[in-house]
Amino acid sequence: MAGSSVLRHNWAMSTTEPLLDQLRDIVGPKGWLADEADLEPHLNDWRGAMRGRTALMVSPGSTEEVAAVVRACAAAGVGIVPQGGNTGLCGGALPGITGEQVLVNLSRMNRVRSVDAKNFSMVAEAGCILANLQAAARDAGCFFPLSLGAEGSCQIGGNLSTNAGGLNVIRYGTARSLVLGLEVVLPDGTVWDGIRALRKDTAGYDLKHLFIGSEGTLGIITAAALRLFPAPGETATTLLAIERPERAIDLLSVMQTAMPDRIQSFELVSDACFRAVEQYVVETRLPFDQRSPYYVLIEAETGGNNDAFEELLHDCLERGFATDAVITKSEAESAQLWRMRHSIAEAEKHMGKAQKHDVSVPISKMADFLENAPRRIADAVPGIDIIAFGHVGDGNLHYNVLLPPDTPPGDQKEVGERITSVVYDVTAELDGSFSAEHGVGYLKRDDLVRYRSDVEVGLMRSVKQLLDPQGIMNPGKVVS
Ligand code: FAD
Repeated sequence: MAGSSVLRHNWAMSTTEPLLDQLRDIVGPKGWLADEADLEPHLNDWRGAMRGRTALMVSPGSTEEVAAVVRACAAAGVGIVPQGGNTGLCGGALPGITGEQVLVNLSRMNRVRSVDAKNFSMVAEAGCILANLQAAARDAGCFFPLSLGAEGSCQIGGNLSTNAGGLNVIRYGTARSLVLGLEVVLPDGTVWDGIRALRKDTAGYDLKHLFIGSEGTLGIITAAALRLFPAPGETATTLLAIERPERAIDLLSVMQTAMPDRIQSFELVSDACFRAVEQYVVETRLPFDQRSPYYVLIEAETGGNNDAFEELLHDCLERGFATDAVITKSEAESAQLWRMRHSIAEAEKHMGKAQKHDVSVPISKMADFLENAPRRIADAVPGIDIIAFGHVGDGNLHYNVLLPPDTPPGDQKEVGERITSVVYDVTAELDGSFSAEHGVGYLKRDDLVRYRSDVEVGLMRSVKQLLDPQGIMNPGKVVS
């Protein structure tokens, strides 16, 4: 996908021109883009590392239009790439470089169909921006807990297709656990209406789970029935300075025991990340006089009992788990700390060539990972620097490794791959996953084959073959 020199430009003029006409007719004048400049933002990934090509992007306005688009593509045997907010980090939402796949963008399907506050549920179309759904839940006196740095532009269809994680997984689970029902257009254009807002339903196989996390390779999610929750009580935001990342695991254990089910977010951030944020993002500053190698950012529901929470933090300081701590005193202070956390990905772009990983291990093995990985990587590639941050409360780390600064540009790919190999091997040895929350997409297809058993990959291929025998749904992604 990377590199654009082999693109074929004239697909639109060839035998598929009738199909393109047909698709334009289905979605109407507001529903398609073909101009290169207009298409540009839809053909590059968020990091600017990957690029795709297409002759046409359609944006259907209804489930019926999605179904008609899919039927037309299926009849022509043409590949379809579903796209939400295009914030995915594995290239899953980009068409291939040949330009022979149709991009189906869901952004016009952005209606909240219903909110049922008594049932703590809402039904939303796939193109709803995540932040808008959080607001819709709030307006109904409820809470939709899915929250991530890209929430201002990612869409719920993309979130479900990647089984997104984010900040509140420790308390509410990943996107998968927030879904009650789905509406999906299957690869032959049939609509499966599985919108049921039930907490209990044991009638046969639970098909929605096939589509959640399948990154658009089995069908197009057009709507979802989502779980809502009562709004959490008063919360406190605290930032703790810690000497070693392993201390975060001690803290996590103490906090979760003292406040079962009330820790909402538990994030580890290295000083290098916060320094980059302070340098590249305006009006950001850590509230400590002295720097520390690592920090833990915690959001906890205190129900207003801040004294007990402060006592707990004192205890942690006394036991040496942390060296300093602040509790925010206002929503503005809290928002400021979260802004720093959310800005890491943006600031990281300025930190030099980094090999990025999104790994998870059982929390009980996180300390082993944090101790072993740097040593093993440095043995393989001396001179590296580690940038670690992420949802350590879920055993998930964004474990990015800065290449030695003197690595010649021509060697960067090979050195990067060597680093990744060590990171994933250490992860696998600790029974972890090479993809905690970003999915597989285009980037990690080979890793799926390497780190999952033949049985598991074989089952995935069988499911793909059963649902999409023509192989037209997001070709070349996840399993092929
Ligand atoms: P896209 O990028 O458009 O698509 C992602 C995949 O889903 C593609 O394979 C696409 O084909 C498929 N897809 C999209 N819509 C549909 C649909 N309706 N039906 C079927 N398939 C579809 N991820 C996390 O999990 N946790 C984080 O904390 C997190 N933080 C992030 C912070 C930043 C700054 C950025 C840029 C990204 C972050 N991400 C995070 C990654 C990304 O935001 C998530 O993967 C998100 O869920 C993708 O949503 P999207 O709408 O942008 O999907």
